[in-house]
Parts: sequence; structure tokens; C-alpha cells
Amino acid sequence: MDMATIRTTAGRGRLYDSVLDTVGDTPVIRVNNLGPAGVRLYVKAEFFNPADSVKDRLALNIIEAAERDGSLRPGQTVVEATSGNTGIGLAMVCAQKGYPLVVTMADSFSVERRKLMRMLGARVILTPRAQKGTGMYMKAAELAAKHGWFLARQFETSANADIHEATTAREIIADFAGDRLDYVVTGYGTGGTVAGLSRVLRRERPETKIILSEPANAGLLASGIPQDRGPDGAPAKSHPAFEPHPIQGWTPDFIPNVLQEAVDHHGYDQLVPVSGAAGLDGARKLARREGIMTGISGGATFAVAMGLAETAAPGTVILAMLPDTAERYLTTPLFEAIPEAMDEAEMEISRSTPGYQIG
Ligand code: PMP
Repeated sequence: MDMATIRTTAGRGRLYDSVLDTVGDTPVIRVNNLGPAGVRLYVKAEFFNPADSVKDRLALNIIEAAERDGSLRPGQTVVEATSGNTGIGLAMVCAQKGYPLVVTMADSFSVERRKLMRMLGARVILTPRAQKGTGMYMKAAELAAKHGWFLARQFETSANADIHEATTAREIIADFAGDRLDYVVTGYGTGGTVAGLSRVLRRERPETKIILSEPANAGLLASGIPQDRGPDGAPAKSHPAFEPHPIQGWTPDFIPNVLQEAVDHHGYDQLVPVSGAAGLDGARKLARREGIMTGISGGATFAVAMGLAETAAPGTVILAMLPDTAERYLTTPLFEAIPEAMDEAEMEISRSTPGYQIG
């Protein structure tokens, strides 16, 4: 072993009191094998969070903000509507802190999500996919009202964008201190990421362009049609520009109130549509060429970043948010073309030595 060149580590220099203390401080990673020469592409890898997604951040903050202001009582059941990642994050937090959790989720989202939440001790109430995001949303509100449960309200609560302002954005500011940062690319589900990032970046990195993306076939913001809302900011009905799309976690069938802040306060510079197919392709390329495993929304965000890189001047620096991990999509179109059995080339390798063959 050559001790002069081998990579070594020194530990994190601390012992963690709880899994909750491991949320955040995710790495920004250079993309080396994709994209044009002369442009520096980076990704912020949110799958380094303990429950593998960006939503661990707001799950923790929603619970702790509610503990601080007394709206969540010890032992009270928490209920929330989620496309999965918020539910998984909440299940992790509730397991650690001892709150029962009930999640409502449309039955179109990946089976992995259901199983992970149940593994973490949550109950998962499926809602019909035909009733879209508003269906699971209304179900959570109904259950909260009927049973006196604490409704997490990720689509409206200030605890969502606040935690991205306090952590995600601060990490980007710190990691790019003294360096260029021309573009930050993100999509939206609740809009917490873009709203929190833009609060900080507008103030501290005004030269950085914030690029927001949404599915090409569900251009809610692109349509310019405002969202019908009730007095508490909750969606009153499904947005007319919505179509079902494969980018799980992005763009529900309404414009969330949390996202509305970014719309109203010029929180992004450009809105770029991206197709589901481009998202799948982006995630596959990141896996195969970079060894970086992200979900469909990460692939879509990266595809938009690659598009910007293609026409960008040399020296441009671009950061794409990667919200979660590819492993959350094993049963979805992302892995459809990945076989379980050996293909012909693998069989040939197997047969190239005499022993230990199957079939
Ligand atoms: N991608 C995935 C996979 C998600 O689960 C979410 C959150 N629903 C997002 C992106 C969007 O994040 P935000 O809610 O902060 O807009």
C-alpha cells in the first residue's frame, strides 16, 4: 500500500447526538465527463441527507417550528400530503422524536416511497391518482380536521422556504465564496427551494441568475394563469394548465402558496420547460458517466443545466440542484430498461470460464 498517495479520512470530528443533526450540509460536486469544455458544471447532492432527499430539511424544520410555537403537542399525530419525499423526511423525524405520522399520497407515486414511509413507522393513505395533487392535499386537511391532528402544510407554511434560506442557501453562499456562480438551476414542488434560495442569492449574489424549470407538459407558471386560492392560500381548484408528468416531486396540479412568493418577488430570472424524457435521460447520464445517482427531478434539473452550458461563454459556472436519489425510482420508467437477468454479453463473460455458471 502506497501511503503517500492513498486517500485517507479523519472522521467528522464530532459525535452526532441524533440522526436529525445529520440533515443538511450536502456537498456541491463537480461534473467532469458531461457538458462542454470550458464551462464548470456542479450539482448539489441532496441525497446526502439522512433520508436521501432535500425534503429532510423542511420536514425537520416544520416539526421543530411547530414544537417551538406550541402548535404541535407531545405525542400528537402529524398528517401531511406528499409526493413522497416530504413524507419520508417526516417519517424519519417523527420516528426519532416519537410522533405518530399519517401521510396521504396519490397512488401514482413510486411504490418505494410507500414502503420507505411504512418502514419508518408511518401510515400511508393512498388517494386516487385521478384526483391528482389536490386530492391528496384535501384528504390530509380532512383527516386533520376530523381527528385533531397536526397538519404540516408544506405547501403554505413559512417553515418551508425559511429552512432553505437558513441552510441550503447559506451552504451555497459558503461553498462558492470567492468563486463565480453564474446560474443556479432548480425545479419546484412546493417552491420552498427556489423561494429560500432566491431570498439569499438576490441579496448576496445578485449576479447569479436563478433558473426555474417545470415540466414541458405542465407549464403552470408558463401559462400565466393565476391560481385560484382560498383565504389561507390553499388551492381552491386544480390549475387548468396541469397535465400528468413523470417528474415525481415536481409541479403538483396547483401553484403552491410557498412558490407564489418567488413568482411575486422576481425570485427567478428565467423559466425553462423540460420534458420528462429529458429528465430520465439526464438522470441516466449522471449515473453512467459521473457515478452520480439522482432521481428524475434531478435528471431534469441537470438537463436544463446542460442546455444552458451548451450556449454559455467559457468560464461560466452552473449549479444544478439534485433533490433525491435514483434508488427511489427502481420500479419507475427510470429503471425500465435496466434488466434483472443477465444479458447476452454478461452470459458470454460467465461462460468464458468453466465454473459457477447458472441457467
Ligand atoms: N424533486 C423531488 C423528487 C421532490 O420530492 C421535491 C419536493 N416535492 C422537489 C424536487 C421540489 O422541491 P421544493 O418542494 O422545494 O420545490
